[in-house]
Amino acid sequence: MHPFSYTRVSDTREALNAGRRGGRYLAGGTTLVDLMRETVERPETLVDITALPLSEITVTERGGLRIGALVTMSEAAAHAKVRTLYPVVSEALELSASAQLRVATIGGNIMQRTRCTYFRDVTADCNKREPGSGCAALHGVNRTHAILGTSDACVATHPSDAAVALAALEARVHLLGPDGARHIPFADFLLRPGSTPQREQALHQGELITAVEIPALPRPLRSGYLKVRDRQSYEFALTSAAVALHIRGGVIREAKVAAGGVGTVPWKLPTVEQHLLGERPSEALWSAAAAKAADGARPLQHNRFKVELLKRTVERQLRVVGGTE
Ligand code: SF4
Repeated sequence: MHPFSYTRVSDTREALNAGRRGGRYLAGGTTLVDLMRETVERPETLVDITALPLSEITVTERGGLRIGALVTMSEAAAHAKVRTLYPVVSEALELSASAQLRVATIGGNIMQRTRCTYFRDVTADCNKREPGSGCAALHGVNRTHAILGTSDACVATHPSDAAVALAALEARVHLLGPDGARHIPFADFLLRPGSTPQREQALHQGELITAVEIPALPRPLRSGYLKVRDRQSYEFALTSAAVALHIRGGVIREAKVAAGGVGTVPWKLPTVEQHLLGERPSEALWSAAAAKAADGARPLQHNRFKVELLKRTVERQLRVVGGTE
């Protein structure tokens, strides 16, 4: 591990000053400290923000939920409002990691970095870690890599399960920076690799995530998360599906669907959603909608199986949430 300085801040102004000077924010440290041990990350200064007042879950005026950035994954998953209003978020958090790792924060969870093994091996070529060095995964072992949103520079998946549920529900990320507060749609927060895979979030220098806000959605809302992986515990998704449906009078009035384990960012599925709207739940509908889930996929040598697996994962979860299974 490379030497670094450590400072603990007690208010947001102090944090932003430290962030503006190039300090890296430290909350649960689950990803950052891990990567520092492997010398993938080499920050000069860590700014411990755990004393900031960002640990509340509140119902918004419009009936949505605002989850503070320092709320832990365990706290969010167990919170009564999260469980009752958005089971898809609660389930995604519970399936994310072992109980020990769910001390990680919501802010840290959506900021976590890829599990690409070449990224974590400092002897391998990796454009994300070392821009311009190449991508060892393109012609290496790429079974777990992305099939959607990839570029010639990087094909790594985003590893967060919670981010898939938040993307499906069209959450907003609240940020605070030297120039004030702003909030941006989740879909704009995480960036596809393009030619700059080292840039992963639409954050300005020194900006701090303060909360994630899930919008109010029409009720009743059924939702749930399905994760397919090589083993049942402590494993990342090969494919996953977050689904939320508002069904009234036997007709689907609102559909929110996103996939994980397949994209360089959590992969929203608007064509699947459009196919569901205004229709009555049926086996044929789930199958026809899910058939569109992998549109635009560019599989690699070892991950062609994900195309079919993604469609089946989405179909299965539509069936479960839609109430025909
Ligand atoms: Fe690096 Fe991305 Fe290639 Fe993995 S897929 S080696 S993270 S550039």
